[in-house]
Amino acid sequence: MPATAPSDVLEKLVSLCKRRGFIFQSSEIYGGTGSVWDYGPLGVELKRNLKDRWWHAMVRARDDIEGLDAAILMHPRVWEASGHVATFTDPLVDCKNCKKRFRADDPKIKGTPGTPDAQCPVCGMKGTLSEPRLFNLMFKTYMGPVEDSASIVYLRPETAQGIYVNFLNVQQSTRQKVPFGIAQIGKAFRNEITPGNFIFRTREFEQMEMQFFVEPGTDMHWFEYWKEQRLNWHKSLGLAPERLEFHQHSKEELAHYARAAFDIQFDFGGTLGFQEIEGVHNRGDFDLSRHQEYSGKKLEYFDQPNNKRFLPFVVETSVGADRTTLAVLVNGYREETVEGESEGRTVLGLHPSLAPIKAGVFPLVKKDGMPEFAEKLTAELRQRFPVFYDESGAIGRRYRRQDEVGTPYCITIDGQTMQDGTVTIRDRDTLQQERVAADAVARIIQARLST
Ligand code: ATP
Repeated sequence: MPATAPSDVLEKLVSLCKRRGFIFQSSEIYGGTGSVWDYGPLGVELKRNLKDRWWHAMVRARDDIEGLDAAILMHPRVWEASGHVATFTDPLVDCKNCKKRFRADDPKIKGTPGTPDAQCPVCGMKGTLSEPRLFNLMFKTYMGPVEDSASIVYLRPETAQGIYVNFLNVQQSTRQKVPFGIAQIGKAFRNEITPGNFIFRTREFEQMEMQFFVEPGTDMHWFEYWKEQRLNWHKSLGLAPERLEFHQHSKEELAHYARAAFDIQFDFGGTLGFQEIEGVHNRGDFDLSRHQEYSGKKLEYFDQPNNKRFLPFVVETSVGADRTTLAVLVNGYREETVEGESEGRTVLGLHPSLAPIKAGVFPLVKKDGMPEFAEKLTAELRQRFPVFYDESGAIGRRYRRQDEVGTPYCITIDGQTMQDGTVTIRDRDTLQQERVAADAVARIIQARLST
């Protein structure tokens, strides 16, 4: 059963995701919106499973992290304090002839923008490129009925700030003691200049962020701890260990708030190669001290046993739900030839806990009581996990349709079932079929899903 993973699977995934209802282009009937995507029936399950795994690992399975769901719209001063108004920018150049806009560091630009020699990469004119100008990546809108500068608000470009401004609310209401963390999942918006590569870089996306508040001096210990934890989490999703690596930010790469930063990168293959899926940052006391300064409200933590007040340092873990969904899809996609069969198969080797459908249930033929038996079993299994019932077409095709969407198990009701009450469970990856009692199926699959 030799497997071939195409070098650049993105194109194939875009088509599979549309055909099978994982991901659609936003507003497709109007020609689409630039780099915005909608999750279809299977995609919404996949992404939700991924977010549930993160929430479970970060919030529910521990007692030192609390959950939060802060609003997208925040007081505009938040973004002055965070540094986003002043520095969340990319330098851009405009072509005065064709009106196209580029990042100033676009390698396709010939010459230095703003000089007579510079040549536009699109229309080819010389001397038409402007000097680089800074362009802020935050989306702006107006709060209330009056559209003036006093009513400007921003769509948040990250979820973290909702956590900082609620630091004391959460600490005091839960009586957590430093070190402890606050986690949240939510939408973020960035007016990216060069979005693309499917859901890799989009203008609207979801982040899963956790801010861990620690005593200054212990920050590097916790930084190392979180690097390790987060890498292990990605491995637990089934991402191949050899496709994961750390990338340390050099002094030049470090963001204005960061004392130390590592990215967890995943090898997307093809033209993308290794790219960031998560950032782990030691932010020091930058955020809390800025919010203290801009709001005029004290945000210090009171350490009762030692009777001292201090501003905690923050270790942040920030991972994209959409980008990790793409990593999981790329990691799982494979095309195989099957021994003894002329037709090959496409498989999404998703971790069973992430798979949108956990089991397919198929009566071998549409007669002899098999559909009735299968429907009863389906109803029973549906109490526990998502199941797809299918009675149409050749059994081989039905298996293949489930392989392609990552369903880990297929249960077939056949002639023998009607005699002795046993069914077969087929494993998506090994293609092994085992015969078990129908009333044991729920327990067997449930046990496998939780490993
Ligand atoms: P990049 O360098 O790729 O633009 P970043 O360093 O700006 O990313 P962070 O601000 O650290 O990213 O955001 C944390 C995570 O959020 C990223 O690792 C990524 O998974 C996700 N993310 C950031 N921007 C986008 C985007 N435009 N589309 C999808 N996911 C994103």
